[in-house]
Amino acid sequence: MSTLRFNALKETLNRKPLEIEEKGLRSELFGKNVFNEHAMLQHLTKDAYKSVMNAIEFGSKIDRKIADHISTGMKAWAISKGATHYTHWFQPLTGATAEKHDAFFETIGNGRAMEKFGGGQLVQQEPDASSFPNGGIRNTFEARGYTAWDPTSPAFVYGTTLCIPTIFVAYTGEALDNKAPLLRALQAVDNAATAVCKYFDKNVSKVNASLGWEQEYFLIDSALAAARPDITLTGRTLLGHSPAKGQQLDDHYFGSIPNRVMSYMRDLENECMLLGIPVKTRHNEVAPNQFELAPIFEEANLAVDHNSLLMDVMEKVAQRHQFKVLFHEKPFAGINGSGKHNNWSLATNTGVNLLSPGKTPMKNLQFLTFFVNTIKAVHDNEELIRAAFASASNDHRLGANEAPPAIISVFIGSQLSAVLDELENVTKGKLSPEEKTDLKLNIVGKIPEILLDNTDRNRTSPFAFTGNKFELRAVGSIANCAGPMTVLNTIIAKQLKDFKVEVDVLIAEKDLKKDEAVFNILREYIKDSKKIRFEGNGYGEAWEKEAKKRGLSNNKNTPEALKAQISKKAFDLYEEMDVMSKVEVEARHEIELDEYMLRIQIEGRVLGDIARNHVIPTAIRYQNTLIENVSGLKNIFGDDFKKLAAEQIDLIEKISEHIAGINSKVNAMTEERKKANHLKGQKAAEAYCNNVRPYFEEIRYHCDKLELLVDDNIWPLVKYRELLFTR
Ligand code: ADP
Ligand code: MG
Repeated sequence: MSTLRFNALKETLNRKPLEIEEKGLRSELFGKNVFNEHAMLQHLTKDAYKSVMNAIEFGSKIDRKIADHISTGMKAWAISKGATHYTHWFQPLTGATAEKHDAFFETIGNGRAMEKFGGGQLVQQEPDASSFPNGGIRNTFEARGYTAWDPTSPAFVYGTTLCIPTIFVAYTGEALDNKAPLLRALQAVDNAATAVCKYFDKNVSKVNASLGWEQEYFLIDSALAAARPDITLTGRTLLGHSPAKGQQLDDHYFGSIPNRVMSYMRDLENECMLLGIPVKTRHNEVAPNQFELAPIFEEANLAVDHNSLLMDVMEKVAQRHQFKVLFHEKPFAGINGSGKHNNWSLATNTGVNLLSPGKTPMKNLQFLTFFVNTIKAVHDNEELIRAAFASASNDHRLGANEAPPAIISVFIGSQLSAVLDELENVTKGKLSPEEKTDLKLNIVGKIPEILLDNTDRNRTSPFAFTGNKFELRAVGSIANCAGPMTVLNTIIAKQLKDFKVEVDVLIAEKDLKKDEAVFNILREYIKDSKKIRFEGNGYGEAWEKEAKKRGLSNNKNTPEALKAQISKKAFDLYEEMDVMSKVEVEARHEIELDEYMLRIQIEGRVLGDIARNHVIPTAIRYQNTLIENVSGLKNIFGDDFKKLAAEQIDLIEKISEHIAGINSKVNAMTEERKKANHLKGQKAAEAYCNNVRPYFEEIRYHCDKLELLVDDNIWPLVKYRELLFTR
């Protein structure tokens, strides 16, 4: 008997939902364990409070003496929340979060001790973090790196630890994390967008990018997950026959949430409330055992931190409920995978969403300006955006059978398309008074009405305008949002910067009025960026052909897609916008290529192991039973056995064929791995992609066939139907 599988199944049958106690209204719990403005007012001196607020708003430096005051207040607050330790909490280039806890506890001689936490420890630390990926940065320069406090993301107490969000940089200044480039990109977009806003409103002094992510995930019983080596080691199933019932009845989507899952969600939401993560929406997703959680959007840096924190909290809370969370983009073949839509917009410090039309023609011209510039930026940098979502696991979504496709396009809906078509006809140079009035009343003036009844939704577009924000749909569910957010905000910053220059030239040299100049430049942008706009079905084959005709890229796998990161254009862009140096860009590229290669390598090894050590021995056992049966029949019936044992003999032959298939394919795959291991960088990643990975499907084919043939009683691996329909 395959004990592990059946023991696990037995365990799951006895599960009961945990009782979750509501500790108060969500609004009362919200931010209780966050050192937010409210807590700072209570625990900091006036000077210390002001200094932190200035750092948040204007990026001003915090004086060392003041840092001591802040740390003292922060410590007192954290201890009142039950904290015994503190840690700098950062996001190295593994994509996950990192922490190293130190106790507040210090000895002070004579056998006595006290709780201590100085300004120095708050502001800067030097974790021995030499084992994080650095893409060569720490080899070529100095080997040391340090973490530095990011006051724009508030400290929080999680469990018994005070967590202080920090950036992670080398002593030579290069960023070793995801957060430092993101902060620089947000600064760049703030500068550029604020300058453009001044055309429309002199009172704007800051523009924040906002992000609202939607996290999709699978929940699998932990005992079942632990009985599958592939889930344990790779986060996905590498084999497993499709169950008779999958998602074809659409009976899970938005359905009633199963009790055990509901109890998990409530527990999780309570934790999120305490940590200040503003989660709001929960529902069943399309695939069985797939769910989604979404917060209220926030300033992008904070939203990125909150998503990283959330993923960690989700795993921890899941343990209490005997669940395993799968963040992988494609844990199961044949049913939907998971993404993490990034809803993005820009908002001014005066409270205006720049991607939401306003009440006056001038406000609408401002909307159009940001709207058209966004489209233009995506048009000019489509390959760089594609690269921002590329990973071994997301390759199963983008450019595979499941959308969004690997082709980047922008969807804006038929009505806004009509507006842009009209604007294409704006006269070159000065506009007549009639044309101006017509534009204001009939085109720009009509936008709010248009959007009110704009229910256009296109689920197949990787970058869709949804009324007051763009939704970046290609981001993978396991990704750190910092990567895509850095790219998007950098290209928008660059675009807005160029736009400002061009408009100013028209005003100064062609004697155009401000709005005339804006219309003139927008007209050109609309024409130039037309090919990126697509309103049709992004999943269809017709679009692939059409996109090719239009000259859009279609980089279907990670090694292909990542190339765009190290083009001259990309280096220049990051350098000009002060987001990353060439060294920093190259380091990230190297790390991502390596990670791709390593993930495929691990999957190949795990698949080879399962196929050889689990599937084949089981198949042979079953085949032996059949052989015994056949020889028994022969003993009893003599020559007549052939008729009586026809089915069994056929099965014995089929099993042998599949065993042979597995053996030859696993051998061939191992040979290809050996060859690939002699290569480096791009070549290695390509070899793994093109020569190793194709064997996965072939090996899986034989294993899945055997799953159907072999006695269920001895099959060792938890089956799809058990993974997907136990809850
Ligand atoms: P859906 O796209 O699934 O229909 P919604 O449109 O309600 O759902 O919003 C999804 C996400 O978009 C939520 O996380 C929400 O907070 C976020 N969102 C809404 N407005 C903005 C905005 N201006 N900027 C960024 N995110 C936003
Ligand atoms: Mg959405």
